[in-house]
Amino acid sequence: MADFDADLFVIGGGSGGVRAARIAAGYGARVVVAEEYRFGGTCVIRGCVPKKLMVYASQVHEEIRDAAGFGWSIPTAEFNWSALIANKDKEIARLEQIYANNVEKAGARTIKARAVFDDPHTLLLSTGEKVRAKTILIATGGAPNHGKPIPGIEHVISSNEVFHLPQQPKRILIQGGGYIALEFACIFAGLGSDVTLVYRGDNILRGFDEDVRTHVRTEMERAGITIITGCTVTAVEKLGEEYTSHLSSGSSIASDQVMFAIGRHPAVASLGLEKAGVAINPDNGGIAVDDHCRTSVPHIYAVGDVTHRTNLTPVAIREGHAFADNVFGGKQIQVDYAYVPTAVFSQPQVGTVGLTEAQARAQYSVVDIYKTDFRPMKGTMSGSQSRVLMKLIVDGTTDRLLGCHIVGPDAAELVQVVAVAMKMKATKADFDGTMALHPTAAEELVTMR
Ligand code: FAD
Ligand code: NDP
Repeated sequence: MADFDADLFVIGGGSGGVRAARIAAGYGARVVVAEEYRFGGTCVIRGCVPKKLMVYASQVHEEIRDAAGFGWSIPTAEFNWSALIANKDKEIARLEQIYANNVEKAGARTIKARAVFDDPHTLLLSTGEKVRAKTILIATGGAPNHGKPIPGIEHVISSNEVFHLPQQPKRILIQGGGYIALEFACIFAGLGSDVTLVYRGDNILRGFDEDVRTHVRTEMERAGITIITGCTVTAVEKLGEEYTSHLSSGSSIASDQVMFAIGRHPAVASLGLEKAGVAINPDNGGIAVDDHCRTSVPHIYAVGDVTHRTNLTPVAIREGHAFADNVFGGKQIQVDYAYVPTAVFSQPQVGTVGLTEAQARAQYSVVDIYKTDFRPMKGTMSGSQSRVLMKLIVDGTTDRLLGCHIVGPDAAELVQVVAVAMKMKATKADFDGTMALHPTAAEELVTMR
């Protein structure tokens, strides 16, 4: 053991890596964490957090518009992109420092460098240093896909760049129909940009409940976003400051910015995995792991997006925590992937947990659906025509709640709490027997018949 420099070496200072390092150090392990970019990782630096801050910024527009119905007159409201980006960057820098400090406060050593395997126990750092560790955790996350190398791909930005645009594009074309495409389509539309969304399938948000997909699309179109389905961007040309995107349908669209949000891939390239003997999962291209996040090499583990399973921050954190508890705390914790709630921070938001109607019908013999689609009270005075969708999927045999899908204001907040009820095996009768809280939108969840 004496020839190891560390008990644990963590590659990647993002959500999963930071949590694992802190917990392992808390158990007295000698921990080293290498981060090649910025501590905090995707979520803090160029994901969930800056995205949500920009969502808040874009919602102000709607609040101002709605204000008139409530008697407010706001004659001049001006938006300043540079101010938003500067304030957002300041907050992200603050959080980055907190993340790095917390790792060090826990007793771990942080290194700003890229780390790759030199052999199964040795990491070679971009600083030239070599560190030998008894246990290694790969928590390198993922990166945006660029798709096929179409002509003009060099003009296309991804979510990595969108947080640092020097100016707000007045017109933006976004390709993709998933989380990032929808969130940024709504952010830019809320900020006043003219947004076109290009999606290859027949309807956005593939994999979500069908009613959710239709409802979100209707609402986004109501907000003025142009959604073109059934085609892809085949080439992008730049003339001066303007981009022309050519579509597989034969048409072309001019814009000031083109962004692709067409999925992410696990960051496994050039890690030297072959020198360590770590196997890749052939089904998804991520690092292959067992139920305890152990790779094909017994002393090497992997958590979070690099395993390409459920690519969400709370999942990476839970996996990193469980790894450290098990390996350094002598516990036997298995992460429970049932009822992982998720939200798309589009406008309106989508909150979802459990099975879709189609999944439930494929798995259960009797499925009961409870659904409501209504104009929220605020709309009656603001004039907004936006509607809320709430849908409960119930096992008709046991009365157990199988899924909950909400599209509307605060859908994410609501679904987090419904996930607790579902984990406690709530039945529809439990919902019905719960007193309503009036006047709220959430009361619909306990009054649907
Ligand atoms: P990461 O957080 O990506 O951390 C990996 C770290 O490893 C990075 O900092 C990277 O620089 C570093 N690294 C990589 N290779 C090396 C190396 N060789 N040496 C040293 N360091 C290395 N999830 C949610 O739950 N909610 C959201 O609202 C949400 N919004 C998102 C919005 C966007 C735009 C994006 C892109 C993602 C979003 N996600 C969201 C997903 C979430 O960010 C990820 O699931 C989460 O960050 C994964 O954590 P991780 O620890 O696995 O990887
Ligand atoms: P998603 O997987 O959500 O969506 C990718 C979209 O791109 C899909 O609509 C997909 O179409 C389309 N697509 C894929 N490949 C191509 C291609 N070659 N050409 C054209 N279109 C293509 O990925 P995102 O990039 O939006 O986000 C990555 C992940 O990050 C998410 O899956 C999620 O795990 C996480 N995330 C979570 C957020 C949250 O929790 N709020 C927010 C942002 C990201 P199709 O459906 O037909 O496959």
